[in-house]
Amino acid sequence: MAAGYGIVMPVAQRRLLLISVVLLCVGAGAGLLWLRRDTPPRPAPRSHRGIVIHHTATAPTAGGQPVTAATIDAMHRRRGFHVTDRDGTTYHVGYHYLIQQDGTVLVGRPEHLPGAHTRGYPDMLGIALIGDFHRASNRGRRGPLAPPPAQLAAAERLTAALLRKYRLTTGQLYLHRDLGQTACPGDGFPRRAFYADVAMLLARSEDW
Ligand SMILES: [Zn+2]
Repeated sequence: MAAGYGIVMPVAQRRLLLISVVLLCVGAGAGLLWLRRDTPPRPAPRSHRGIVIHHTATAPTAGGQPVTAATIDAMHRRRGFHVTDRDGTTYHVGYHYLIQQDGTVLVGRPEHLPGAHTRGYPDMLGIALIGDFHRASNRGRRGPLAPPPAQLAAAERLTAALLRKYRLTTGQLYLHRDLGQTACPGDGFPRRAFYADVAMLLARSEDW
């Protein structure tokens, strides 16, 4: 029994070793897959020279319902901002993204299409926060005078993600009024906090 036991043990140990190695390989493989999945791809898509932040200069709701991309699409339809995608879909909304006051992000027109939000800058992505943050046009009738925290946070996250995706810096991030004769996105828009938060998010994402 003792001799038999002596022979059995090394085999068991070898099996244990084999199982350990297999588990280690499976673990490493899964780890690599997880890393691949979690590392955002760095494509070099159609170039965008920057990102422009807007407000829609509308009330946050229409007829008791939150303003949607369709609402803005209908508004922009009258302005002739439309572009037709390769698949035949026509987009009137000039912004690439819209953000509702609860932080919901809506797609306006696909990122690969030129923007129609800042005259002379079709090669910039446009993000519009739904609402009117300009005292003179809001006049207390178009919701809060500054983006609610959830909306601002969503705008910051989206902006940081897009800057990173297109390898842009905060030097290529503009408010509409930096580029044109407009108050957009309003005097209530917290520029300093927005830029600081976006820079912080970008710095954090560089550690990935
Ligand atoms: Zn604007």
